[in-house]
Formats: sequence, structure tokens, C-alpha cells
Amino acid sequence: MGGQVILMPELPEIANLARQMTKQLKGKRITDIDLTQPKCLNVSVKKFRRISGKRIGETNARGKWLFTHLSPDDNLLLNLGMGGDLRYHKHDDTLPKKHQLRLTFDDKTKLTVSFFWFGYIHTAFDKDLPKHKMTSKLGISPIDNEFTVEKLGSLLSGRRGAIKSFLLNQKHIAGIGNVYVQDPLYMARLHPLRMTQTLTEREIEALHRSVCEVLNQSIRLGGLKYERDLYGRSGRFGPEHFLVAYKTNEPCPICKTSIVKIKTGSTASYICPNCQKL
Ligand SMILES: [Zn+2]
Repeated sequence: MGGQVILMPELPEIANLARQMTKQLKGKRITDIDLTQPKCLNVSVKKFRRISGKRIGETNARGKWLFTHLSPDDNLLLNLGMGGDLRYHKHDDTLPKKHQLRLTFDDKTKLTVSFFWFGYIHTAFDKDLPKHKMTSKLGISPIDNEFTVEKLGSLLSGRRGAIKSFLLNQKHIAGIGNVYVQDPLYMARLHPLRMTQTLTEREIEALHRSVCEVLNQSIRLGGLKYERDLYGRSGRFGPEHFLVAYKTNEPCPICKTSIVKIKTGSTASYICPNCQKL
């Protein structure tokens, strides 16, 4: 997949982390907070420290954000940005050298959050959560039961523009980035620049099916190979599972035409020029 490709964690990786956090952390109480980069907070360090003493509840994924409920009335919101790591540590584990946030729990286990840049560590009280600026406008999560073919149809109706931009727009559907958008378009035989208003009902059905299929396959395999889970283990979803994504010059799995990389707005797309005609 090439050394220069920068991958961001997308929904399958975040959903996997959310599941592991709930399983591993739920019920623990925060006893110590170590913060090294106050600029990734949405409140002052002093205000952030209010989460000390609160008890960890469920963690949920919404787009690229992790929402952890803190009992009784608070939330920790994490966005790992590019190349972030979220790790759980047992009492005597060696801790990573660098971190933006380290939480210690009442049983001496720890959680560290580290990222290179563009990461966020926010808090919001339950009552303020709907007003949290960076997440309040996030669209539907494509792994939720509410993401039906009818829902996709209604989101698309009346919209104009390229289907790929629509899928990447986090206000419509939250959590699909440039990695997971490629194969669903190919599987639905859609060119990334196809105009949304020209899609037929059958094409919308095919797209809904392929989006769900690709995301769920990745979640089953623990997310992308290039990303690590809460325990530092790599995911198992890799290039061998991709159909056209990052497969420039390789044959299309269906018609054997060479896959090409094209520029679509500000992003790169990988398509079979024969199966995905504009
Ligand atoms: Zn083809």
C-alpha cells in the first residue's frame, strides 16, 4: 500500500476500540490525570480535572470520535486524529514514552492517549453534549441499525454533487474516510464522480449493501492492519481484503482491466475504468 499513504483511523477501528474500552474500563474510577498538551482540550486544564473521581461507563463510536460516559453526569470525548494510539495498561506494564493524556484508575491500571497531531481530548456534561460543536453535526453512523437503505435514499434525495463527496461528508454519514469509501463504490459499480441525483434505486441499494459489507468485514477482522487496538495488537483487515483500493495497475477482480488511480477533488480514487464508468 506504499509508504507515503497516510491513513487515519476510520469507523471500524474506532468501533473496535469502543467495544474494547467498554469491556475493559467500565466500572473503573479515575484516580489520577496526567495531561501534557492542554491545547487539545476544549476546556481549561483546571476544568478538565473535574473528571477525576468519576466512574467510567459505556464507550460508543460516532464517526471518528469515541464517547465515554463518566458517571454521574459527564463524558470524555476522544478523537485520535492521524496516527493516534489508545492503550490500556495493566498495573506493571511499561508505559509509552509519550502521551497527551494518561488516566490512572482505582485498580492502578492505566489508559494512555497519544497522537501526532489533530487529536482532541474533550469533555462535555450530559446536558451540554448535544451542543458540543465538533460532534453535534455528525451524521448517522453507517454501522447503526438505523442506517437502512431507505435512510440512505432519504439522505441522498434532493442532493446534488458527486457520490464520493457525499459519502465522505461527515454531516451525512459519520465515519467513512478515503480508505473505506473506495471498495463500496467499486462493488456498487459507481464512479466516484457520479452525480447523486442520477442514482437509481437499485444503485442506492447496491451502495448501501456494499458500504455495510466492507465496514462490517473490517470490524470482524479488528480493523486495519496499520492501526492498533487497545492492547497494541494490529488489525487483520489489509490489502488482501481490498478489491481496488490502493491497487493501482493490478487487474480488476471482475474484468481484469488495470485499476487506475485518479484525482477526485482533493482526494485520490482507485477505480476500474471499465466497471465504474462515468
Ligand atoms: Zn472491472
